[in-house]
Formats: sequence, structure tokens, C-alpha cells
Amino acid sequence: MNSNIVLLILFRTNNSIYRYNFRMKQFEVPNFYHSPIIAKVKAKRKLDDPRKKDFSALELTLNKVTFIFARHFGFCYGVENAIERSYKAIKENPDKRIFLISEMIHNPNVNEDLKANGIQFLQDTNGKQLIPFESITKEDIVIIPAFGTTIEIENCLKKIGVNIETYNTTCPFVEKVWNRSQKLGETDHTIVVHGKLNHEETRATFSHSEKNAPVIVLENMDDTKELGEFIEGKKNESAFFDFFKGKISKGFNPHSHLEKIGVINQTTMLASETQKITNYLRAIMVNKYGEDAIKSHIADTRDTLCYATNDNQSATYGLLEKEADLAIVIGGHNSSNTTHLVELLESKFTTFFISNQDAIYSKNEILSYDIHTQALKKKKKFLPEKESIRVIVTSGASCPDIIVDEVLQKILLLIGEEAKNLEKCLENLN
Ligand code: SF4
Repeated sequence: MNSNIVLLILFRTNNSIYRYNFRMKQFEVPNFYHSPIIAKVKAKRKLDDPRKKDFSALELTLNKVTFIFARHFGFCYGVENAIERSYKAIKENPDKRIFLISEMIHNPNVNEDLKANGIQFLQDTNGKQLIPFESITKEDIVIIPAFGTTIEIENCLKKIGVNIETYNTTCPFVEKVWNRSQKLGETDHTIVVHGKLNHEETRATFSHSEKNAPVIVLENMDDTKELGEFIEGKKNESAFFDFFKGKISKGFNPHSHLEKIGVINQTTMLASETQKITNYLRAIMVNKYGEDAIKSHIADTRDTLCYATNDNQSATYGLLEKEADLAIVIGGHNSSNTTHLVELLESKFTTFFISNQDAIYSKNEILSYDIHTQALKKKKKFLPEKESIRVIVTSGASCPDIIVDEVLQKILLLIGEEAKNLEKCLENLN
């Protein structure tokens, strides 16, 4: 049974902490995604710190290992909502064909289970068509994923007569970004989206923003510097169009559309990077128009990251305050929010990015995803030969807790520590 709870959420960026109230629902997520062990870890933290003011890590010390858990990890509001509604779609429509526009969330295990339950994917994660839209009929069920989708796809489905409302699982935090873009458009701002061009959410945000205003996507500081050089007159129009090909809306005029801008972002970007991008663009505008006129040239936007991204990143800063032999980040390799956790942890620890326990071959070998080369790499010397090791554990917003649990069990097995010691340790938590 669902119940609504009002939660006070603390949002934290590098420079500020702010509060946000919203009604948090409890969702029915299939039991096989849950882990009693991880549930105990989370329950303990929630009990001690119900308002999430403390982002320090939790340590569980066994005989041969200390696990260091992030304050916040795993499923977020939007993912649980999407999972609940997708399984509902399966249950409520046993005789119908059910399609998802693309991966529902960026977790291979969850997507595979949905496929095993008969759901077919219309596109892959990069937008490549797997099943033509022409083969869909109005009797079919189509689920819109948590990232949302483009207006073009919505219109295409509506034209066929498909009901796109019943199983629309677009996360409310993504819709919030679209609302922000609408407001910026109403005040004649050009919308600068800090996001990954090929990510489903950025494609959807681009499409929804484009109906409000001219749009440009910046993936990182390199893109931002290129844009800055054009605004400063150091690059010409032809260089602008060459560089930003595919990253600007139709009819974008770099001369008139870069006089008044507002920054929004994909909800799962690195908060510190969005801040840097906004600061950089603001400085460029101050140079060009002067401090007194700045309000007319760049909107005073706070990042549009969601609460889960903020919490996960704040919790990762909590992990960075610890000492450890290694860090393990668990999640889909195409998951943006998970990738940023890896990026942060790598600055201090030897970090392994895996999607599940199958990637751990032995004490000495692990198959880890390299976020820089975007390739899987076999890495040696996984678990150090020490009497007792310290292992940081966290996961992305689309990773089921059971997968984290299985990774812990595999480590315990490899180092010869009895699994029951972890349970005992949890029972003894004060
Ligand atoms: S990561 Fe944030 S925006 Fe994305 S689904 Fe979760 S709560 Fe929604």
C-alpha cells in the first residue's frame, strides 16, 4: 500500500545548503531488488539523522574488512516511481504488447528483468531505433522512461493514438527542469543546457526547451570556453557553427542569441562543474556588459540538479574524508549520476566501477569500467594483501540494493570472512 510522507530534503551544492519540501511517496518495488542488509544500514542512518543533515560515512568493522558506506546511495524517487509503474504496466496488461521508449533507467539488471517480463525497447540508450514506431498500434502500451522523452516522439505516439499518459514515468525532477526552461524562455533568455548530448534526459530537455527559446548544450568546460571565446569575439561565426554542430537548436543565431542566457542542467551532472560553467559564463558577460548590467544578460539560476544527485554527491564528499584501501562504485556504466561518483572518488582512492558482482573475478582481478576511455578494463591487485582492508562502497541512483549486497558477499567470500559477521555487526550498531 502506498502512503505519502512529507519530507524535508536538504539540498547541498559546493557553496550552499538549501531546503526543499516535497511529498515523497513510498513505492512498491519488487522484493527481489531489496536487501535486508542494506535496508538495515539505511534504516540506522535514517534513525540517527532523519533530516539528512549529516553526510558523513558509516563504517562497519568486521574481522578482515571495514566497509565504509556512503550516507546516501541507491534508488532515488524517480527510479522507484518508474520501476513501480513499469511492473504495474506488466500486471495490468497481460494480453497487450508493452514497449519502453528506451532503457527505463540506466541499470542493466533492471532493464534485463523488464525484458524478461516481455517489455520491448523501441530505442537503445543512444536513440538508435530498435523497433520502428510504425509497427506500434493504438492498442499497445508504451512506457515513457524516468528521463522523459522528446516532443517529437510524444507527437509520433499521439498520432498513432497511443495513450502516453497512463505509463508516463518521467521523473518530476526532470519536469521541474523543463518548467525552469519555460520560465527562462518567457523572459527571452537563450537556454544553456549543461548536459551530456547523447543522454536520454538531455535529448528530452533539449526538445522541451527548444519550444521555449534557442538552446545550446555544453557538456563540459571545454565547450564552455569555446562558447566564451565566441562571445568575446575571439572566434568567428564559422568556427562557432563547426564546433557546436548538433549542439544548438534550429535557427540558432550566435550573434543575437547569446546576449541573454540562462543555465539549466541535466539533473545528474556534477554540481561543481555546473557551478564552474555558470561562473565562467557570468565572468564573460560581466567583461562584455559590465557588472551593473549583468542581470539583463545572465539569469541568476541555481543548478537544476535533483535531490538524489545532490545527496549522492554530498555523501561522496563524506567518503572522501575517510581513509580506505579502495573504493567500489556500483551501477550501470552509462549512468550519468554513477559516473560522477566515480569521478569524485578517483581523486583520492583506487576506484573500481562495476555493474554487479560478476565483474569481481578474484582477489586479484576485477573488470572495471574506465570512465575516461569508456571501456571495460581488467585490473589486477583488486583486494590488497593485508590483515584487514578498508573498502568504500557506494552505488548510483538506479542501482538496486540487492546488487550492492551481492558485491559485499563476494568480497567476504574472497577474503574468507563469514557472511554472518556482517549481520552480527549490523545488529550491534548502537
Ligand atoms: S536521478 Fe533525480 S532526476 Fe533522475 S530519476 Fe532519480 S530523482 Fe529523478
